[in-house]
Amino acid sequence: MKAIAFGYPKLGEKREFKRLLEDFWKGKITEEELHAGMRDLNLQRARLYSEFVDLIPSNELSYYDFMLDTALMVGCVPSRFGEYKGMETYFEMARGKNALEMTKWFNTNYHYLVPEIEGEDFRLLVNKPLEDFSFFKEKGFLTVPHIIGPFTFLRLSKALRRKEGDLPLYEIGRIEEKDTFERLVAKITPVYLEVLKTLKDAGCERVHLEEPALVMDTEPWHWDLLEEVYRELSGSGLYIAVFTYYDSVSDYRRFVSLPVSGLHLDLVSNRENLENIRKYGFPEDKELIAGLINGRQPWRADLKEKLKVLEDLSKAVKNVSVSNSCPLYHLPVTVEPEDDLPHGLKERLSFAKEKLKELKVLKEAFLGNEEALKEVKKLESVLKVPFGENPEVRRRITSLKEEDFRRELPYKERARIQKEIMRLPILPTTTIGSFPQTEEVRKMRTAYRTGKISEKEYRDFIKKRIEEVIAFQEEIGLDVLVHGEFERTDMVEFFAFKMDGIATTKHGWVLSYGSRVYRPPIIYGDVSRKGPMTLEEITYAQSLTDKPVKGMLTGPVTILNWSYYREDVPKREIAYQIALALLDEVKDLERAGIKVIQIDEPAFREGVPLKRRDWPEYFDWAVKAFRLCSRAKPETQIHTHMCYSEFNDIIEYIYQMDFDVISIEASRSKGEIISAFERFKSWDRQIGIGVYDIHSPAVPAKEEIKEVVRRAMRVLPVDLLWVNPDCGLKTRRWEEVRPSLKNMVDAARELREEVGVRA
Ligand code: GLN
Ligand code: ZN
Repeated sequence: MKAIAFGYPKLGEKREFKRLLEDFWKGKITEEELHAGMRDLNLQRARLYSEFVDLIPSNELSYYDFMLDTALMVGCVPSRFGEYKGMETYFEMARGKNALEMTKWFNTNYHYLVPEIEGEDFRLLVNKPLEDFSFFKEKGFLTVPHIIGPFTFLRLSKALRRKEGDLPLYEIGRIEEKDTFERLVAKITPVYLEVLKTLKDAGCERVHLEEPALVMDTEPWHWDLLEEVYRELSGSGLYIAVFTYYDSVSDYRRFVSLPVSGLHLDLVSNRENLENIRKYGFPEDKELIAGLINGRQPWRADLKEKLKVLEDLSKAVKNVSVSNSCPLYHLPVTVEPEDDLPHGLKERLSFAKEKLKELKVLKEAFLGNEEALKEVKKLESVLKVPFGENPEVRRRITSLKEEDFRRELPYKERARIQKEIMRLPILPTTTIGSFPQTEEVRKMRTAYRTGKISEKEYRDFIKKRIEEVIAFQEEIGLDVLVHGEFERTDMVEFFAFKMDGIATTKHGWVLSYGSRVYRPPIIYGDVSRKGPMTLEEITYAQSLTDKPVKGMLTGPVTILNWSYYREDVPKREIAYQIALALLDEVKDLERAGIKVIQIDEPAFREGVPLKRRDWPEYFDWAVKAFRLCSRAKPETQIHTHMCYSEFNDIIEYIYQMDFDVISIEASRSKGEIISAFERFKSWDRQIGIGVYDIHSPAVPAKEEIKEVVRRAMRVLPVDLLWVNPDCGLKTRRWEEVRPSLKNMVDAARELREEVGVRA
């Protein structure tokens, strides 16, 4: 039996990777120094792997993104980047002005660059697997290259294709049609084969091809192609194992009959793979790489239980190895430096480094090693103790009734009451919440955190910013105001700090893309509010103006999707617990006279399961969690906000959330979203379609803004429409925000007159 690990985080314990990359971008180090730094990091990884597991993966340390690396391997450089000129082109494609589009990697918070396939010719351009392999070999490590497999590569890429009739003549889109996919597979496979052959020639014995796309919905013809591909690749003479993760494989029987030597299955994200092994068996001549240690959640594994699964498996399968369920880069590097966690939590946590150790212990315990068995025993006593329980929260959950998920009055009646109270003009204007997080704001926050200024000084500073932002909004004539969110860093971490049952780490950074990192909070116990979370700032802002100020909360689904979460209670229940904590805040805000409350759900779409068959269950609890926290009085106007993703195929579910107003990002796909409303004939809620793109520093002209609103007016009644930017303004500078919002408000005013004239 082997212990096999993969996908160890590249960030480094002190975020060395980030520093290296950013120093290079800033011109502080040369390209040669960059490469040297990466080589060091690579060697550290190899040493770490070899300490705990039996195979050392290579080709894992990408300079930016492994999908980009794969695109370069097969020669996909869109013509707008010209000839490939090494690092310069590499970073142009990753983060230049015309960079590749970036999108979510499966259902995780990692973002990859979407390869663009122009024409249908692939060629071996950058043989990084070989470069890496040779580097390690020279240093004395015989490694196993990890490469994104051809099927997953093509399924996640976009291809340029000719469009009939309409302009533009070409468009770029996912490769759905069988014919195109078949042609591309036939052309890309020889390049993969060439890579494998060069590896073989260099002394490589084994490769791991990662094919997570096999857990998404597949068609029988996909599997026909896969069989051909892998038959061809086995011609390389290498030992090939195919890795799947994040869910169960969509067709177990076809998967296990692929003509390869090893198969990795995720045995933790649900029970289906395990059940299928029991039901259908596993081929005698293949290695089962059992993904038993969870690569996505930071909990120490119950090794006793894992050992039992392993023993069962080994009765049915001859050749079993233990592995992590999915890449470890979804986890922080190590729990070692965390010294401020709630009591008892640290010994229950296992980040990437600790997971390597778990793999080793599991394997050795299985082989009967006394020390390892003792560790398993010791752990048992830690995990046995109940943890993070709050009976009061449990009681609230069990006593929930149907009506807790329903507002007292239907939307139409609420809207009438709210209209009376608010007396807003048609096409009311508002913003999404945050205003520029200037250098000064960030400095003051650090000063406060590190004790350089007192709490009073910090609060006074925030109050000053609120005064300014309220004055500015009144001056340009916005209708519904916000307090600016100056007191918040991250919209999820901010609430995590203020809730019991959720921990935050000091060093638990995870890469979300490029060199960008974030610290996911850890939901470890029953969740409740420590006390009011937003009341002070919101009510202060409201005290400064007669116009309505929006209370601003992050929704339960987003808090859950952007955090790690416990596994001893169902996700549905965790979502309801968070929702109840937020509901308490909603009630406090109402009591303090706040008339409009926005509950942001930018990650509502992200938690959607990879297989369609699992969608109804997800949306059932996600919608209900939102309804639970937004059960305000009929006269309170509930807003929500969504961004970052495509909503067209989930618009029916969004509607069920029963908010009064939604603002939605659309500036990158205006056309599409509007046509979704064309199809949804009975849509009757108020909606603000983002009228300009806040991701760009450009100041939108009044005419451009009006055009977006006019377009929306063609498919939606004007009295449903709001006018707002497409997301929060925190990453923008005041110099951009001032004129942009002014143009937006002026555009709305002029449109009101136009509409008035027509009516
Ligand atoms: N209210 C938040 C803000 O304006 C929303 C952020 C988001 O949608 N990601 O910053
Ligand atoms: Zn947004």
